[in-house]
Amino acid sequence: MAIALLFAVLATPATAAIGTALDTCIARVQPHDTPATMFGVRDRFDCRRRQSSYGSGDFWIRSRPFVAPGTMTAVRFASTWQDRVTLYVLHADGHITRHGFDSGHAGNNLMLGATFQFMLPPRAAPPVQILWRVERSLNLRGVISGARIADHHQAAGSELGMAALYAAFAGMCLALLIYNLALWAALRQAFQPAYCLMVLCLLGYAFSSSGLLGQITDIDNNDRMRINYLLLAASAVAALTFARAFFERRVFDGWLRPASSAVAGAVIVTTIGFALFAPHFARPIDAAVNLSYLLLLGLVPAILWRAWRLRSNHLWIFALAWGGPVFLAGVRILAAMNVIAWHWWIDQSTLLAMAMEAALSSLGVAYRIRLLSVERDEAREQEIAARLLAATDPLTGLLNRRAFLEQAIGREGEQRLILADIDHFKTVNETIGHDGGDEVLRVVARALQAAVPAEGLVARVGGEEFALIVPAGVPFDAEGVLDRLRAERMPFDMTVTASVGTCVGPLLREIDWKALYRCADRALFEAKAAGRDRVRDAAPLFRAA
Ligand code: GH3
Ligand code: MG
Ligand code: MG
Repeated sequence: MAIALLFAVLATPATAAIGTALDTCIARVQPHDTPATMFGVRDRFDCRRRQSSYGSGDFWIRSRPFVAPGTMTAVRFASTWQDRVTLYVLHADGHITRHGFDSGHAGNNLMLGATFQFMLPPRAAPPVQILWRVERSLNLRGVISGARIADHHQAAGSELGMAALYAAFAGMCLALLIYNLALWAALRQAFQPAYCLMVLCLLGYAFSSSGLLGQITDIDNNDRMRINYLLLAASAVAALTFARAFFERRVFDGWLRPASSAVAGAVIVTTIGFALFAPHFARPIDAAVNLSYLLLLGLVPAILWRAWRLRSNHLWIFALAWGGPVFLAGVRILAAMNVIAWHWWIDQSTLLAMAMEAALSSLGVAYRIRLLSVERDEAREQEIAARLLAATDPLTGLLNRRAFLEQAIGREGEQRLILADIDHFKTVNETIGHDGGDEVLRVVARALQAAVPAEGLVARVGGEEFALIVPAGVPFDAEGVLDRLRAERMPFDMTVTASVGTCVGPLLREIDWKALYRCADRALFEAKAAGRDRVRDAAPLFRAA
């Protein structure tokens, strides 16, 4: 599809700017003017001043004499706001033929790319000059602009090229729309509906600005232009809404948010004003519309600047996607303000730029998805780390008391609880210091960890007190654990011993744990009392019936 679009874009300028450009001169219509005299007069026509400087009204536009390009000549010119256009064609034999339309029935003459076209029927004498009489022209950007003559084959080719361009654009918009709506359902990102709305507005704008709307519905051409204005404004505001949703909230904090709302409001209000009142007050309202677009454009550097200052993640992809459209929008506004000359491609540039933007924005969306998945992976890792951290004792890496109880209580069948308490640990601390004591705790923890069978649990449940749970059916040698401890190499080769108390009982509920702990603790106390460094097994507890 992208290739089709590229092809259409490359093919279009060659096909649409077909034939030969006609230089034109302008004169105001005066009473008693006739086409025959207007073909002949020398001093009435102004060939130098810009047409738009004449303001609105009724005009004669006369081409320079030309040589017809083929047997059948197509006369083409851009669609502008007027009530009626009459074409007088002077033939080589001096004969004048007459053609025309009024804006209410312009559909038959409206080609794709919003170009009016007249096919001059073949005559023995070829056409040599054209005179337009245009009534109630708004003349914001010229009465007759972009006038060209072409051979009818070229004209047909142009229509085909334009059809390819618009079809590619519409196809791309539809694909982006479906793809983003589907993604929205999955990702729920705020910028996605704004993006879809923008694409929809652009699709509507392409439909009305292409002239297709006029061809299909035979709507009054001036009304079509009102709709055109409205859809362009809607697209612009949707684009701004998209930008606001695309960047992090902080980028629009401060003055930028109210300023962008105000500018969007200005675009909408001035455009609605034009759509409602044109052709009345058309010039001032059109100037206000242009100014509001200029302000909108002025927001772009401000947005980029703030995004850069705040180190937005989305700056580069946004700048990349919107660079072209923004530049061309600037060109278009300057042309609309008659600062630079109007050109056929300026009319089409918005479409091309927006196609480019839409395609690149989908890369932006893909990039956003990548950021989201990175965020999600990080969050998952953090969650795992946090859960691990919450469950372990930081000094020894063993389970802490809370996690131990969580895993121990509820075990089916009889369980053996082994409590191990380091002997005279206070003295250990006093002898080798607190850090040395810590190291002793780590060594003891490692030894216990190595001693516990796979079905068991080890935890540090107090300062120098450890607990092990082993199913009663699994053989466990508590004396062996003490042997192991005695064999461990301790810091400063200190001799460190521990006393152990064990008790067997059920461990289904909290209350079982309390009983089992009390029992094992009593055994531990007995081991201490009997001289330490030994094991005492308490009599097993039995499940209450
Ligand atoms: P007994 O043989 O009767 O168990 O005597 P003990 O000195 O080991 O018992 P006691 O409970 O009186 O003292 C425990 C000491 O363990 C007191 C405390 O300073 C120390 N201790 C508790 N937690 C830590 C720790 O995380 N690191 C270090 N180095 N010492 C700790
Ligand atoms: Mg102790
Ligand atoms: Mg103790």
